[in-house]
Amino acid sequence: MKEISCKLLVIGAGPGGYVCAIRAGQLGVDTVIVEVAKPGGTCLNVGCIPSKALIHAAEEFEKVSHMAGGNSPLGISVTAPVLDLARTIAWKDGIVSRLNSGVAGLLKKAGVKTVHGWARFRDGKTVEVETETGSQVIRAETIVIATGSAPVELSFLPFGGPVISSTDALALSEVPRKLAVVGGGYIGLELGMAFAKMGAGVTVVEALPRVLAQYDAELTRPVVKRLSALGVEVMLGAKAKGLSTDGDALLVETSDGKSTKVAADKVLVTVGRKPVTEGWGLDQIDLDRARKFIRIDDQCRTSMRGVFAIGDVTGEPMLAHRAMAQGEMVAEIVAGHKRGWDKRSIPAVCFTDPELVTAGLSPEEAKAQGGEIKIGLFPFAANGRAMTKLGEDGFVRVVARADNHLVLGIQAVGQGVSELSAVFGLALEMGARLEDIAGTIHAHPTQGEGFQEAALKALGHALHI
Ligand code: FAD
Repeated sequence: MKEISCKLLVIGAGPGGYVCAIRAGQLGVDTVIVEVAKPGGTCLNVGCIPSKALIHAAEEFEKVSHMAGGNSPLGISVTAPVLDLARTIAWKDGIVSRLNSGVAGLLKKAGVKTVHGWARFRDGKTVEVETETGSQVIRAETIVIATGSAPVELSFLPFGGPVISSTDALALSEVPRKLAVVGGGYIGLELGMAFAKMGAGVTVVEALPRVLAQYDAELTRPVVKRLSALGVEVMLGAKAKGLSTDGDALLVETSDGKSTKVAADKVLVTVGRKPVTEGWGLDQIDLDRARKFIRIDDQCRTSMRGVFAIGDVTGEPMLAHRAMAQGEMVAEIVAGHKRGWDKRSIPAVCFTDPELVTAGLSPEEAKAQGGEIKIGLFPFAANGRAMTKLGEDGFVRVVARADNHLVLGIQAVGQGVSELSAVFGLALEMGARLEDIAGTIHAHPTQGEGFQEAALKALGHALHI
């Protein structure tokens, strides 16, 4: 059996693992990364990137379809477009493949050795990898677990046949005629809205009284309105119960306890993601866990000395940029740098239509901390740029302490607001006050002006409302 030693071993080349390995390599740490699939993990192969490609294609198709219907206020008319989903998927696969090669190249450039195969712990310092050419033992001073997450499967709706996961939905060759989406969280709604724009009849079945329940109702209102405009039926307080015997419908218990059938040639189950903690010898090293996730401290240290864990396997927020930031921090710690972690500034984006961005505390969370707060909300209906993009529905909201005006949280809903997430994160990271945002000259006409105006509103003197 082949044996190698290194200073740092990273298990899993998703955004957490590959960033950790690249940064460690840049710092001269002798690093090995093990990955069983293609580099880039869930995010690059079956998550962020492919879903955004599909969402973009769906948006373009819907825009042109709208024009073809003679409904465009822009005065553009075209003939009815045709969507060839197989070609859309091939285009998306091309982007993924270019990025796969990009990540592999970056690892190589940083001097990181990549081992292809499934890693399994023997003990806290040794891992055995099943590669195509046999087993390989890797001994490391420090090990980083970055094994990520996988879709949760429902026992009464197992994946297979018409029942699909988000991974399967990103590889369909035809648009389903009828699509039932079980779970109205961000993944279900992003994909559900995309398929509705591509022509599927979509029904969302959500057990809670609201979709996107982690956000406040004021923020999600424009998305709920758009779901309705797209003809998406949303069943709230409803529970999926299984497939009908002939497999062409989802059985649902409605909020009033009645049983009904939702016609569906595909049932997309998006009820959450679970950490990948099986099959790699977690029992061999006996790490502390918080529910099913690996418990970590603020510097991603696990309960075992010399073993770190990063990304989705450590729990919420399960976001690629959080995994990357943890990976970079851990690499620097391993290289002997002093690093801390401030999770206040991790923004979260939901790529529905319109998009949602949150960073820091919501008004409710800020109130729950005690102390007086100020809230400034600026609607895009009063923003010139938003009007020119037919994107008036939405707003930017800023939450700050009333005494010293320290910004605690920022939220936005509107077309293209994902691009504002960086400036929201920056404001929180820098400890901005309302006056800093209000005093920053924003370019005109941009939706970013809404951010400045929301801060001005909180200070009591907005200029454009
Ligand atoms: P992963 O990306 O899951 O990578 C883990 C890697 O480890 C995998 O490649 C796996 O093959 C490998 N692995 C696991 N065990 C072993 C082993 N024993 N040996 C060898 N290799 C192993 N996040 C965002 O921030 N923005 C978005 O827009 C977004 N959209 C998403 C859309 C969808 C449809 C989905 C499903 C997710 C989305 N996410 C998004 C979430 C994002 O993909 C994850 O938060 C991110 O990928 C987590 O990174 P990670 O490095 O922790 O794990």
